[in-house]
Amino acid sequence: MPLVSILPELYKAAKGGYAVPLFNVFDPIAVDGVVAAVEETRAPCILGVYSGCFRDANIAAFAAYIRERVRNLKAPVALMLDHGESLDQARQALELGFTDVMFDGSRLPLEENIAITLQVARLAHEAGAGAEAELGHVGQGSTYSEFGAKRLGFTDPQAVEVFVRQTGVDFLAIAFGNAHGDYAGEPCLDLDLVRAIRRKVDIPLVMHGGSGLTDDQYRQVISCGIAKINYFTGINNAATARMVQAAADEKPSMFKFTAALRQAYAERAAHYLQVFGAAGKA
Ligand SMILES: [Zn+2]
Repeated sequence: MPLVSILPELYKAAKGGYAVPLFNVFDPIAVDGVVAAVEETRAPCILGVYSGCFRDANIAAFAAYIRERVRNLKAPVALMLDHGESLDQARQALELGFTDVMFDGSRLPLEENIAITLQVARLAHEAGAGAEAELGHVGQGSTYSEFGAKRLGFTDPQAVEVFVRQTGVDFLAIAFGNAHGDYAGEPCLDLDLVRAIRRKVDIPLVMHGGSGLTDDQYRQVISCGIAKINYFTGINNAATARMVQAAADEKPSMFKFTAALRQAYAERAAHYLQVFGAAGKA
């Protein structure tokens, strides 16, 4: 089927007690790996393109590749702008056929985050797309001790209701001890905070910084109400390890590198589609 907005799938996931992953892709080989995993597991899935990729000259060609590549899949697949920087970037993504857009105003003053998210959500809805925002701020795992254990940047549950109402956003990324990249130290996740936010709003909740948890921790955050998990670092680490292995091959070749990248995406994506409970839900 053609690319679709993931919003209906997120509502199904929230109701059914599972989560739909967003896997970040940076090239066609990675896309092929995720497509193989989706075919194998029959799961809804999101391909995420990071905002920085919009500075590449080939972003339009990449979007077209993804559109063609998923066309014959039976499972619903969405193409999403990840960590969008501005209203203009959201517009560009929608013009390129992206089905969902995130605007990340988590480092802005609250009023500014609300004002821009509102505009992005309106634009997305006109295009039949879903809009995601971030309230609180999900930091980097490399500096985890400076915020994670100290609860800095955690989402304020009191602010959530007003934020959602004033912006009209469709799904919300929250900060509860999760972090982007590898965690330096043990992740301390505040599951009570997730539950408290869940009680405040009925839109799907999103966890960024999904790498580095145990399979049990994923099941826990999902049972507390997370319906979308952004996952990249774990795939990056697995792909890198496989490529280093390929370099040590008796007869190294470019094709062994590309195969290593594709396989890492296919295997890790299939694994997490299973762990998150999305497998078989298409
Ligand atoms: Zn993120």
